[in-house]
Amino acid sequence: MSKARNVLPVAVAGGGIGGLACALGLAQRGFKVLVLEQAREFGEVGVGLQVAPNALSVLDALGVGIPAKRDALLIERMLMMDGVSGQTIVDIPCGAEFIARYGNPYAVAHRADIHGALLAACQGHDLIELRTRARVIGFDQESSGVSVKIAAAEAERARAGEALGEGERVHAIALVGADGVHSRIRQIIVNDGDPFASGFIIYRAVIPVDQMPADLQHPYPTLWATKDTHIIYYPVRGWTVFNFGATVRTGQTEVDETTEAPLEEPLALFAGQHHTPLRVMRAAGRFRRYVIRRRDPVENWTQGPVTLLGDGAHPMVQFIAQGAAMALEDAICLAVMAEECEGDFNRAFQRYQEIRIVRASRVQTMSWMMDKLLHAGGVERQVRNSIFAGRTPQQSYERLDWLYQPPDYVRAPRG
Ligand SMILES: Cc1cc2nc3c(=O)[nH]c(=O)nc-3n(C[C@H](O)[C@H](O)[C@H](O)COP(=O)(O)OP(=O)(O)OC[C@H]3O[C@@H](n4cnc5c(N)ncnc54)[C@H](O)[C@@H]3O)c2cc1C
Repeated sequence: MSKARNVLPVAVAGGGIGGLACALGLAQRGFKVLVLEQAREFGEVGVGLQVAPNALSVLDALGVGIPAKRDALLIERMLMMDGVSGQTIVDIPCGAEFIARYGNPYAVAHRADIHGALLAACQGHDLIELRTRARVIGFDQESSGVSVKIAAAEAERARAGEALGEGERVHAIALVGADGVHSRIRQIIVNDGDPFASGFIIYRAVIPVDQMPADLQHPYPTLWATKDTHIIYYPVRGWTVFNFGATVRTGQTEVDETTEAPLEEPLALFAGQHHTPLRVMRAAGRFRRYVIRRRDPVENWTQGPVTLLGDGAHPMVQFIAQGAAMALEDAICLAVMAEECEGDFNRAFQRYQEIRIVRASRVQTMSWMMDKLLHAGGVERQVRNSIFAGRTPQQSYERLDWLYQPPDYVRAPRG
């Protein structure tokens, strides 16, 4: 085993994209890490993921850019269509000029390709220990760091007849809450209740390529926007399947996320959409539905040697496809600060928060503001279309620079 800088590990609650990236970034800088994942195995829910250049730059800095991009599709353009008229609203080329400007292409990938690349690198690093079936339920600060509480194993809980028992404590030098939108660590640090329903739900499906209309198979995501709805589809896994997502404002706070929805259900809700994306919806046939949840930005994610990262810190709607990108940027920033502060995690987490909170909150806010543009109807739709009309690629790039150019802390470890 390589010599670690720390005796007690840094505990990371949650082994999603953010948690694994954080573990890898820390281990590459000499810190021993213990990842505690509640699920029976590491994996990702859902299928497609848009991976913007700022996210790919983090994956490069973590040394997993090549495997992460291997099966990804590097897209030709970003396209937004008017779901009323069928006209193109936004068409931003993502070729050589885009790549030169941002240092990376824009990709679409299977979630498992990105998560799998991070997982393989974590599994291959001797400073990282990965544990499954380890649900973090709380923590106590100690003079030497943090005592992390883990729920008793399911079987033990069932035997004891307990709802949620404390099973084990892990002593760690610091704790990172990378435990997602329903973060338990956030409940303790921020204590702002459950994330709220955004008013939108999403119907998701995977379409085998032979069922996908041939004339709608393009090497880029196609997004169709109408009042209160949008639909997106793109190929993943080497064009073997298409990822399909249809988002609609229904005001629902709960839906049955465990069973499939038949075609008639979204068809009724998307009646105002253009016939073209509805052809894709018909090809999908069956769907899973989920409530889209969100929060507004908060001023603090940190309590001494405990901090939040990714959706635990700043859950956002997916309207600019940046949630995983922000989790990745958080991860590398936190690791760089741990190195710069030479393992003083109280100080490192304060600096991490100071650096990240404005950018992540800006993206969180912008994502929600996109509701206004994506889901406009009536005269607002015409205003939206006039805003984008005639915009050159260069004018679009100028507006995207702040987001897609990687911040300076996105860098590989020294040496
Ligand atoms: C419909 C939709 C589409 C999206 N599309 C995109 C996109 O195209 N591009 C993009 O960048 N982002 C996208 N996002 C956002 C992205 O999925 C998330 O922002 C990202 O997955 C957050 O990563 P995370 O690691 O913070 O959290 P998660 O991925 O939620 O991982 C959290 C992990 O913690 C585990 N966990 C939870 N609680 C505990 C606990 N108490 N103890 C231990 N483990 C625990 C979970 O099992 C999970 O493995 C989308 C989101 C949605 C909903």
